[in-house]
Amino acid sequence: MVDYAKYIKELAKLLESSQNILLICHINPDGDAIGSQLALYFYLTSKGRNVSMISPNNLQEFLKWMQGSDRINIFTRKKNTCKDLIGMADLIIMLDFNQPNRLGEAEELVMKSKAPKFVIDHHLDSHKIADYIITDPSKCSTAELVYEIITELNGEPFSAKPFREAIYTGIVTDTGNFEYGPYTGRTMRIIADIIESGIEKEKILNVLYNNFSAERMRLQGLALNQRMTVLADLRTAYITLSRHDLEEYKHVKGDTEGFVNLPLSIKGIRFSVLLIEKDNFVKFSFRSKGNFPSNEFAAKYFSGGGHLNASGGEYAGTLENALEYFLKVLKENETLLKGEN
Ligand code: 5GP
Ligand code: MN
Repeated sequence: MVDYAKYIKELAKLLESSQNILLICHINPDGDAIGSQLALYFYLTSKGRNVSMISPNNLQEFLKWMQGSDRINIFTRKKNTCKDLIGMADLIIMLDFNQPNRLGEAEELVMKSKAPKFVIDHHLDSHKIADYIITDPSKCSTAELVYEIITELNGEPFSAKPFREAIYTGIVTDTGNFEYGPYTGRTMRIIADIIESGIEKEKILNVLYNNFSAERMRLQGLALNQRMTVLADLRTAYITLSRHDLEEYKHVKGDTEGFVNLPLSIKGIRFSVLLIEKDNFVKFSFRSKGNFPSNEFAAKYFSGGGHLNASGGEYAGTLENALEYFLKVLKENETLLKGEN
């Protein structure tokens, strides 16, 4: 358990004295990045603070319903506005990441800014990218951590509806609707309070989970039926998707979200990997069960990182070479993969 008290005091002081507060999330923002950002935004604006928001790049369709999401400035689309916002900020709060390259094209401007910087995050291996870092890897989501911090700042749970829906979305998406991740009894109590206070739960779940195109479902079929390899002796399964596959199924951003979790349902499999061919590189997503450190694997071989059981990285080269390299380094981890837990 992280002792928030000392950080909260600093945060409260800074929030009080700052005229232009900037909230910024990570590139390719997920439900937790946007959920925690919007939650903080609604709380701070309710207290009369002047707050702006930036995302390094576009929001995926499944997040655009969120109240306040149209107030998030997209760096790649509105560079000048975003440059001004970063330049004017006298407090920068970064949400749901701890590595500067997760800022995408905004990295240089944000890192060069003289404004005091805060990180609120739940990833492992925190880098010293800010003056103040509140990080708690025992939390299932940054949204849960933001909820705790705001409860502390506010003296009681804050309960505006858009705030509740943002926290709910962050927690639900980072746990795969309570399927994985370190959610706890406390998480469930927060969710219980949120639901009792009233949110449009069915509507949110439908937008998040029952909103796929037919092509996306067929792409999932292809992935499982023809592109998945099971290496039972290494307790590993992997899926490869080429650019051609994606084009054929009219892929749009976000379509492959969740594919990497599917092979973990196979009996005995404890490591699942998704390889997606991009323009000059291959994107790797890793999921593991038990104590196999997918984040260490990602960091050691694929310049990546993340959580123990959910991480990602990249390989510069073709899909064919990426696969060859992956199989080689996988074999090097045979003993660990065959381990008991
Ligand atoms: P996903 O597989 O859903 O894209 O990513 C899962 C988690 O892995 C993310 O929450 C993020 O923490 C981490 N992650 C994914 N890709 C990268 C990467 O290229 N570098 C780092 N450091 N972390 C990544
Ligand atoms: Mn998160």
